[in-house]
Amino acid sequence: MSLATAYTYLARAISGTVCRNELMAKHTSFHIGGPADLFIVCDTTADVAETLTALADEHVPYTVVGKGTNLLVADEGYRGAVIVLGKQFKKHIRDGDRLEAGAACILAYVVQDAFAQGLGGLEFAVGIPGTLGGALAMNAGSREQWIGAATESVTLFVLGEGLLRLRATEVGWGYRTSGLSERGIILESVLRLSPEDPDRIRAAMEANLARRKGTQPLRASSAGSVFMNPVGDSAGRLIETVGLKGMRLGGARVSDVHANFIVNDGGATAADVLGLVGKIQMAVKDRYGIDLRPEIRFLGESG
Ligand SMILES: Cc1cc2nc3c(=O)[nH]c(=O)nc-3n(C[C@H](O)[C@H](O)[C@H](O)COP(=O)(O)OP(=O)(O)OC[C@H]3O[C@@H](n4cnc5c(N)ncnc54)[C@H](O)[C@@H]3O)c2cc1C
Repeated sequence: MSLATAYTYLARAISGTVCRNELMAKHTSFHIGGPADLFIVCDTTADVAETLTALADEHVPYTVVGKGTNLLVADEGYRGAVIVLGKQFKKHIRDGDRLEAGAACILAYVVQDAFAQGLGGLEFAVGIPGTLGGALAMNAGSREQWIGAATESVTLFVLGEGLLRLRATEVGWGYRTSGLSERGIILESVLRLSPEDPDRIRAAMEANLARRKGTQPLRASSAGSVFMNPVGDSAGRLIETVGLKGMRLGGARVSDVHANFIVNDGGATAADVLGLVGKIQMAVKDRYGIDLRPEIRFLGESG
């Protein structure tokens, strides 16, 4: 594999930027993570095509990152290329009851824009950080509602095939999964919304935000819920009842506000967070026989 060749080629060939040894702690809401060998900002679809081809030719593994709000990157970093979407993918426009939005759009702006246009259907997403692409990859949402249900179509870039437009019915939406990132790079999406009374939309958004502020450590550095809720139960409740709320390891701590959040109190390493993840899984398994499955995604090899 020749990272150097891919770097030299892409630095000249794409309109976006390419850098080496980019510290991923700068690109995650945990503020944790060592360097990615290559960090590539693709500003256009042509950049994405060039990048994937060059990386494949040079056998460089890659992943796509949005705002890194659901991500734990290893202290050793990532031996490969991190791709981030830039300019072309930050636009969103209204078309009747639909919003067409690039995957790099910040979800919160899309939610605010829908509200400003009197379009309902995204109130559940208020306060979810990250990009639209990340939200689609994760099928982000609440317990009752998720982004897949408001989606009409998703356009991916697939190496060897080019652009692939999927109807929402062709996507494998599930609890915090869509299968989209396994198929390609999400470039844009059409959200199907409904004209509604702006006062009702505002009230729903305010209620959701108030619930979040009251139950989640929003000011702390975290990646949101660490574990998925087991069927019929809540991961936070299980962690709390095994007595791990507030538990600390290095700079990482199980939040006192919500036990399903691990927060970085400053200087936490990925090893600290992984240590807490392991302790929680073991304690919940011992007491309840339940395997807690991580909701956060991991990038890079530890140890
Ligand atoms: C305080 C806080 C509260 C949160 N609350 C919620 C919540 O209520 N509900 C919820 O569902 N989540 C929540 N999250 C988790 C997180 O915000 C969401 O999962 C979010 O949608 C991730 O977006 P992102 O851009 O940061 O994605 P990242 O973390 O950058 O990536 C997440 C995954 O998506 C993939 N991905 C990202 N962009 C693309 C793309 N363009 N193409 C293909 N794959 C891509 C990545 O490879 C990775 O596997 C919360 C997080 C925090 C920090």
